[in-house]
Amino acid sequence: MGKIMELTGETFGDLEVVSIDRVEGRSYWLCKCKCGSVSSIAGSSLVSGNTKSCGCLMLRDTKTIESQEINQEEIKKILEYNPETGVFIWIKVSRFHKEKTGSVAGTSQPSRGKIYIKIGINGRSYAAHRLAWLYMYGYLPKCIDHMNGDSTDNRICNLNEVTVIQNAQNHTLGEKPNGLPLGVSRCSSGYRARITASGVCHSLGVFETTSEASDAYELARDSLHYAPSRFGHV
Ligand SMILES: [Zn+2]
Repeated sequence: MGKIMELTGETFGDLEVVSIDRVEGRSYWLCKCKCGSVSSIAGSSLVSGNTKSCGCLMLRDTKTIESQEINQEEIKKILEYNPETGVFIWIKVSRFHKEKTGSVAGTSQPSRGKIYIKIGINGRSYAAHRLAWLYMYGYLPKCIDHMNGDSTDNRICNLNEVTVIQNAQNHTLGEKPNGLPLGVSRCSSGYRARITASGVCHSLGVFETTSEASDAYELARDSLHYAPSRFGHV
């Protein structure tokens, strides 16, 4: 029998390891779940991330699951994102995967006919372009468009949050959670204005100030969104 890795006091998802339970080929640990129940779980399942609760996690509603998505503070603790290259590097991984530190994060995975970079964090798989947005702007976007069509090119300037037309029209001069006006994003040379209409993204240019970029956006919005006959508005 090999040496048993001490897990007492460690937390894995919603589970806190109270003490060793027994050894039967492998080690089993008594874990207290956030919901209050105590169960005996194989150490290997805990360390691998396969088991993160007593089982109650699966029963909880989708809303709770969503709220457990990673946030900007958490991601900056474990990954470093380079907006110029679009590459993520592991800076801190759990002590069970120290070998990853300093290496490029993510693997290429096919999805809906394209290849995307996916990064696994705490047992969840995230698209790297969504994480890039979270890293830079502080929130996970619903939908991101790769401007140059290369779905593995995650430089921040290549990413555009795709807005639903109706959403854009419902806001007169709204602000995104990052403080920038609608249709405006930061890029290395200033502020980029872009607009999506009927699924097509129009680049409106790069401006020195947010207000210039916002003006360009509003002008384009008025001509695109309120001219349904010309642009096949849905
Ligand atoms: Zn539980």
